Amino acid sequence: VDSEFDYVVVGGGSAGCVLANRLSAAGSNKVALIEAGPRDLNPLIHIPAGYVFNLGNPAIDWRYQTEPEPHAGGRRIAWPRGRVLGGSSALNGLINVRGQRQDFDHWRQLGNPGWGWDEVLPYFRRLETFGGSPSPERGATGPLRISVTEPDPVSEAFLEALGGLGLPRRDINQGEQEGCDYVEAITWKGLRQSSAVAYLNPVKRRTNLKIYTGALVEKVLFDGRRAVGVRCRMHGRTRDIRCTAEVILSAGAVNSPQLLELSGIGRPDVLRSAGVEVLQAAPGVGERLQDHYAVFSTHRVTKPVTLNERASGLRLAGEIARFIFRRRGLLTMAPATVVAFLKSRPELASPDIQLGIIPGSRNPATNALESEPGMTCAAVQLRPESRGSIHIRSPDPLAHPIIRANYLSADVDREVAVAGLRACRWVCEQASLDPYRGDELLPGPRLTSEADLLDYARTAGSTVYHPTGTCSMGPQADAVVDARLRVRGVQGLRVIDASIMPTIASGNTNTPAIMIAEKGADLVLSGR
Ligand SMILES: Cc1cc2nc3c(=O)[nH]c(=O)nc-3n(C[C@H](O)[C@H](O)[C@H](O)COP(=O)(O)OP(=O)(O)OC[C@H]3O[C@@H](n4cnc5c(N)ncnc54)[C@H](O)[C@@H]3O)c2cc1C
Repeated sequence: VDSEFDYVVVGGGSAGCVLANRLSAAGSNKVALIEAGPRDLNPLIHIPAGYVFNLGNPAIDWRYQTEPEPHAGGRRIAWPRGRVLGGSSALNGLINVRGQRQDFDHWRQLGNPGWGWDEVLPYFRRLETFGGSPSPERGATGPLRISVTEPDPVSEAFLEALGGLGLPRRDINQGEQEGCDYVEAITWKGLRQSSAVAYLNPVKRRTNLKIYTGALVEKVLFDGRRAVGVRCRMHGRTRDIRCTAEVILSAGAVNSPQLLELSGIGRPDVLRSAGVEVLQAAPGVGERLQDHYAVFSTHRVTKPVTLNERASGLRLAGEIARFIFRRRGLLTMAPATVVAFLKSRPELASPDIQLGIIPGSRNPATNALESEPGMTCAAVQLRPESRGSIHIRSPDPLAHPIIRANYLSADVDREVAVAGLRACRWVCEQASLDPYRGDELLPGPRLTSEADLLDYARTAGSTVYHPTGTCSMGPQADAVVDARLRVRGVQGLRVIDASIMPTIASGNTNTPAIMIAEKGADLVLSGR
């Protein structure tokens, strides 16, 4: 045994950095934060557009992939996940979306007291300093600083098009989403605001907070049924780090269920076939996986006003200078400039499609930005019904788990994917885009039937990297954690990260994960 703490937090990602900060705030608790990856010294983490280069970098990305996806062309789909202080918030797309009022009211309705919109709103406010128009729903003093995207002519034309279609501009982060706006980026003064930057850097010298990096947690240690610490691999040595109050797993939607299973908590059949002894049968661990699957259209643009030209040659040199001297421009941007929320069917109570507009286009073969001007409209089904799973295959903590996303396995998901593609076309065909719109490149004007569009969705779609639900919260026996995020059947162990979402939030998942950690910290500190 090396050290003794009150709390051990496993994973220094979006949620873990929040917990490290909040649990150590009063000065009385001794807190250990244990992160498998390195410190966030790589400068490309901090330059917002740098994620393009960091995705796939084995030094800071776990580089997971799914099993061949039966309903998505039999492809293995890449699942990057941050493996560095900041976690996935160090290499994500920086887009700030909270979700809709109905998401959280639904969580409460499922039997999770305290998780309705009105109850989580104070945490959404507490986590942010919003750089746009102030309002009672928005925070002004929180650690995570948020900027509004700089206007550009193509994005302006899209906002006008969306407005003409009954989707007016609004702050989409106040509970009601139907409408559109410039993307809110989790950046400040042109730099990424990962959870490590926002929550950890300001407090890393607290003497009651110990941050371990390069430390892979292999399992939770138990005394009987009580979690008393973790075993980790650090600099080639095995070390046990003990705690007297609680172990908190914040290892994310892939690794939190993996760690529960490695510790003997999970589906008995999964544990037995992986060669792990069962401590606690927990049928929900690794089940109920939900993720967002995106489909998209691209068009040629007839004027040199897109990101494509800004990202090459002399104009790129200008953008680099703009970044260095003014911290503005291309290098400070999130991967979309406009976001819109709409309903695939008018009778729905709230939007089920998110559109992301990019005044740029990628070559599908190389994934690099095209050299000629182009624009992209991506559509995501917000509340997919397809469910997948994540399970260990062996007791080796380094072995990647088996990920089955099951994209497009539910009928409604296929219908909404096609509706999303039609929505992309519909928006791009509006008159305000006449000055810019050239030919449709993808899916291409020949594809119009339901069957053709679905076929395109299956083979060209991809994840927007929002896995959730694998340690789902709820009152039922197969929920992994209760509404206070305590793991069922054992003591002294919680999961606090994106994996506890009982249903996926309608939007991007970083800010909801941080909200979960803010609320989770209060649950821990209030001793409940
Ligand atoms: C490429 C990409 C783009 C995205 N774009 C957006 C976006 O634009 N907007 C948005 O809101 N969301 C986005 N997301 C999703 C968002 O980033 C995640 O939902 C969020 O970061 C999840 O937070 P988390 O705390 O649950 O997990 P993570 O942030 O992934 O943190 C988990 C941490 O635990 C560590 N860890 C795991 N296992 C162990 C172990 N055994 N021992 C020690 N440490 C361990 C990991 O290294 C990591 O640091 C994106 C994600 C990706 C990958």
